[in-house]
Amino acid sequence: MKTFATMLLLGAAMPAGAQTVYTNANGYTLDEAGALQRFATLVVGRDGKVAATLPAGAELPRGKKIDVGGKTLLPGLIDAHGHVMSLGELALRVDLNGTGSLAEAQARLKAYRSSGGWVLGGGWNQERWNLGRFPTAAELDVAIGDKPAYLTRVDGHAAWVNARALALSGITRDTPDPAGGRIERDAQGNATGVLVDAAMKLVRDKIPAPTVKEQEAALAKALEIMASVGMTGAHDAGMGPADWARYQRFLKRRKLTARIYAMARGPDAVAAIAPKGPIGWDSKDMLAMQAMKLQADGALGSRGAWMRADYSDKPGEKGLPFYEEGLLRRMIIDTSAKGFQVNVHAIGDAANGAVLAAFASVPAEQRGALRHRNEHAQIVSLDDLPRFTRLGIIASIQPTHATSDKGMAEARVGELRLQGGYAWKTLIDSGTKIAGGSDFPVEPPNPFYGLHAAVTRMDRNGAPPGGWRAREALTMVQAFHSFTLGAAYAGHAESKVGSLTPGKWADFIIVDRDPFVEPAAGLWRTGIESTWVAGKPVFRKK
Ligand SMILES: [Zn+2]
Repeated sequence: MKTFATMLLLGAAMPAGAQTVYTNANGYTLDEAGALQRFATLVVGRDGKVAATLPAGAELPRGKKIDVGGKTLLPGLIDAHGHVMSLGELALRVDLNGTGSLAEAQARLKAYRSSGGWVLGGGWNQERWNLGRFPTAAELDVAIGDKPAYLTRVDGHAAWVNARALALSGITRDTPDPAGGRIERDAQGNATGVLVDAAMKLVRDKIPAPTVKEQEAALAKALEIMASVGMTGAHDAGMGPADWARYQRFLKRRKLTARIYAMARGPDAVAAIAPKGPIGWDSKDMLAMQAMKLQADGALGSRGAWMRADYSDKPGEKGLPFYEEGLLRRMIIDTSAKGFQVNVHAIGDAANGAVLAAFASVPAEQRGALRHRNEHAQIVSLDDLPRFTRLGIIASIQPTHATSDKGMAEARVGELRLQGGYAWKTLIDSGTKIAGGSDFPVEPPNPFYGLHAAVTRMDRNGAPPGGWRAREALTMVQAFHSFTLGAAYAGHAESKVGSLTPGKWADFIIVDRDPFVEPAAGLWRTGIESTWVAGKPVFRKK
């Protein structure tokens, strides 16, 4: 690192007390070429930006000294694909996942304090409770009393409701089962408190939309969770005008504790939020909206992903495109012409092919400047893989999807089509730029889970030993790059964040182990001691 002398000069030139010097750190960052660099001292200017990184033994510049105690210090991690509001909303709901008995679920419900008028949540599974029947409205009343409640089953296909919710919905013994749904009933025909499939709507429609206060509480909760897992930035993969207004309020109140790169959901949201064109990063680089999110198909689990040939486990079904190809292409061309990045969800091989074809019709100089992205790039046919590099399309990948999906994906599409599935190493080796993310809350938001999955291709139980399709595993440096500089690049922010380079924001984390030295199998256990954005702490482990 030949620039140490100039860095020192830069540091020495600043007035005493104007900067903070983090000493005794086991520091890592990437240089602009993506190579790993080490340092022992991080110098942060009063402006919240990195002034210098210094090797062990270097003369310390003036400034307030903070001894890191030999702990590992890394650039803050950036999640390139998450759903911020859903993360907060889910965290504020009652979570019955993992309850082993009705009594345990009732105890959890009793302890839960809902902030809103309704008790919302889910995750229950009467099979795990060994109940031999569905739970009842009365058993819910015992736990939560008179507040109306709506709790979805773990698979989302049934809702457990209480007497108050049934009354509000107007369900009586005379209410017929709706088409495609069932009201669970006793021998007299009275509803007992569980609604299946289409019948869920009878109560769901009565749940009032969340208030502004509830939504702000959800955003605050999401930001709290993000800081606690070392996330200093996130790309919101699909938001609307109300979400944007909420972000702006948080920015104004200085309550944004992570940098948000927002993608507007579809052309209407783009037009409503940014009628005059892309909204670049603000003066503190906390918020930007210069991207549109589109969805080309559904997901693999529900066989909604759009495949070229039939699902291996369901002959006659290929999934469905969300848009006719001409419309998809027009939306991408029109929005590109207005200067927006376009990020398209594509899971199935037909969807990936259609998205790449649509991107190919965007003028090359726009494509290069706008950095269009394929979100997920999950099942890609082998002849489509090289098109990512050829067209300069970023692959926005979620490593934990691979380790969660592995068994299901094999059943759905079979071995042959998986050759181009979750093929991150192949993409990187061919020159494609990768951005790492989690798709939280579909997967947990912890970026170390993603690093672990990318490097080991194993789930957090260590399965399968040796990794799933392990030849597509990334090196630790490649995975780290995807959650730092790679994600920053995908958000037009690589000159601002993503590494601890002089002039960039001092977004960093202090963690309880050295992920570059410890065995990769334990990566996901990495604990966050503290998270810093622009040199200010936004999380400290209690
Ligand atoms: Zn998503």
